[in-house]
Amino acid sequence: MNDCIFCKIINREIPSTIVYEDDLVIAFEDISAQAPVHTLVVPKKHIKNVLELEDPQLMAAVFNAIRKVANSKGVDESGFRLIANTGDAACQTVKHLHFHILGGKQLTEKMD
Ligand code: 5GP
Ligand code: ZN
Repeated sequence: MNDCIFCKIINREIPSTIVYEDDLVIAFEDISAQAPVHTLVVPKKHIKNVLELEDPQLMAAVFNAIRKVANSKGVDESGFRLIANTGDAACQTVKHLHFHILGGKQLTEKMD
């Protein structure tokens, strides 16, 4: 049984606010936004973290989705932060690869 919360969002078993979707990737709003723009870009395939992102086609699709979301959210000109927490030391809580897009305000220099 797959208990992954992001797989459930992808399968429409739990609701989310989807802002972008294609065959390989989905993007939806983070439920606990840390900035005016806080969107998660997620491959539909259950991949644990960025170290398992080996498929070049999927890599390209993920970064295409990141660009599309940055454009549609209007942070392409202003700038944004792209984060992929990986493993326990980085406090990755959902073990399904996701990229945080954070923006819509001036972010601090602090990165830890
Ligand atoms: P992580 O700490 O793993 O990098 O980030 C996981 C993110 O997923 C957190 O920012 C958290 O707010 C978000 N999140 C956790 N559960 C849900 C959910 O059910 N729906 C949505 N939209 N986001 C979630
Ligand atoms: Zn999953």
